[in-house]
Amino acid sequence: MTASIARAMTETATSLGHLRDRIAHAESIARREPGATTLIAVSKTRDAAAIQPLIDAGQRVFGENRVQEAQAKWPALQDVTPGIALHLVGQLQSNKAEDAVRLFDAIHSVDRPSLVAALAKAIDKTGRAPACFLQVDIGDEPQKGGCALADLPALLAKAKVAGLPIAGLMCVPPAGLDAAPYFALTAKLARDHGLTGLSMGMSDDFETAVTLGATHVRVGSALFGPRG
Ligand SMILES: *Cc1c(COP(=O)(O)O)cnc(C)c1O
Repeated sequence: MTASIARAMTETATSLGHLRDRIAHAESIARREPGATTLIAVSKTRDAAAIQPLIDAGQRVFGENRVQEAQAKWPALQDVTPGIALHLVGQLQSNKAEDAVRLFDAIHSVDRPSLVAALAKAIDKTGRAPACFLQVDIGDEPQKGGCALADLPALLAKAKVAGLPIAGLMCVPPAGLDAAPYFALTAKLARDHGLTGLSMGMSDDFETAVTLGATHVRVGSALFGPRG
């Protein structure tokens, strides 16, 4: 092993450990169970050489935002290391639902009835059943994806009837604003609907999300460095 690869591995292990410490601290501030939060390492745009050191450091849950990019990268990495869970955090076209169901263990972007129907069909066909988070458009920014708050009850009802394994809610608050009120609202919506999973918090605000009840944080650049 060359010195530069060894150094990259050590740096990765250190940044992962540091991030886990920050999550644990936020959990303790909020009097939550240690380990209540799952860290999803968002590896979109990163190649296998950047991802492998994180796997070697023990990380087993990864997030991607594009089905095709994930299909190209992950099967080879998963062959080497079994037990890796993949989460789709980006928007999903209905015509990619089957590919997504085959590859991913969780889908965080279920936001419209047509996608619920496509996922139900894909689950039926493949016999695989990824955990589904319903994405809510918490800041009223339709371009970002997510269902309008007013449409959430109907979407949830449709997902239940279709038999999707519903894990909880997911949100991406507006950029440049304090995320806390949006996280709090998402947590309240989940409570109101009897849902326990909360996918919220990214590199800039995951600690706030953890104190407000996030069960899954989606962290990319704080682990891998800035995206090019
Ligand atoms: C890219 C992405 C993330 C991670 O963003 P960072 O700021 O790099 O932590 C989280 N969630 C979604 C939906 C993303 O697209």
